[in-house]
Amino acid sequence: MELELQPIELEGVSKERPVVIAGPCSAETEEQVMSTATQLANKGVKIFRAGIWKPRTKPGGFEGIGVEGLAWLKNVKKETGMYVATEVATAKHVYECLKAGIDILWIGARTSANPFAVQEIADALKGVDIPVLVKNPVNPDLELWIGALERINAAGLKRLAAIHRGFSSYDKKIYRNLPQWHIPIELRRRIPALPILCDPSHIGGKRELIAPLCQQAMDLGFDGLIVESHCNPDSAWSDASQQVTPDVLDYILNLLVIRKEHQ
Ligand code: PEP
Ligand code: MN
Repeated sequence: MELELQPIELEGVSKERPVVIAGPCSAETEEQVMSTATQLANKGVKIFRAGIWKPRTKPGGFEGIGVEGLAWLKNVKKETGMYVATEVATAKHVYECLKAGIDILWIGARTSANPFAVQEIADALKGVDIPVLVKNPVNPDLELWIGALERINAAGLKRLAAIHRGFSSYDKKIYRNLPQWHIPIELRRRIPALPILCDPSHIGGKRELIAPLCQQAMDLGFDGLIVESHCNPDSAWSDASQQVTPDVLDYILNLLVIRKEHQ
């Protein structure tokens, strides 16, 4: 199926590469969300991310603050003017986000691996025009990734982008999720009009890998980055080891070399 796409153009967001989305893995408290968002906005970040419902590998961890956190994201919008993005995994999440005026939705890696779940989200989005970012499925299956994009597109959503967050493997010596760059590169070959963002946080799983992964993504011509940033990373309730402060993120972004042929 050929995808019918439209560019995601957001007022006030530069069309230059890289588009940057940043924010904590999870919304934890109103203070943590507002403090992180304010610091990121001061560094020029225009799109804020925070997970409200968290798909955790094992039970017993923090599974997200839930609907209450949507009000905090609304407040981020109001106080900083940033666009706000969160993850949806069920039709109920979609309805809650639409009701709260969330600007951008993303589908997580565990969800995009499940066609029934993606279809449920697509059905809930029928007739709605909102940008949707589709993460690769946890397993290295390009067709499943494209299939998820097709399901959302078939529901009438045209402002789509893909997020490369690496692929699960038993070997976690270096990466939390193997980059397998050839897979997103093949996705670009198959669907040239589809923007692709890189998520260095979930690929690397550790802060030290964020800078080199961001640079690699830029060298490969990726359109943007989605990076986890937290006002106090070490005390984060999820993914603590891979989050950076807004200051560190700004430092990393300023060091990126964007080659002319990719501008
Ligand atoms: C996240 O973005 O915090 C997340 C849960 O990511 P993924 O779906 O890529 O594991
Ligand atoms: Mn995370």
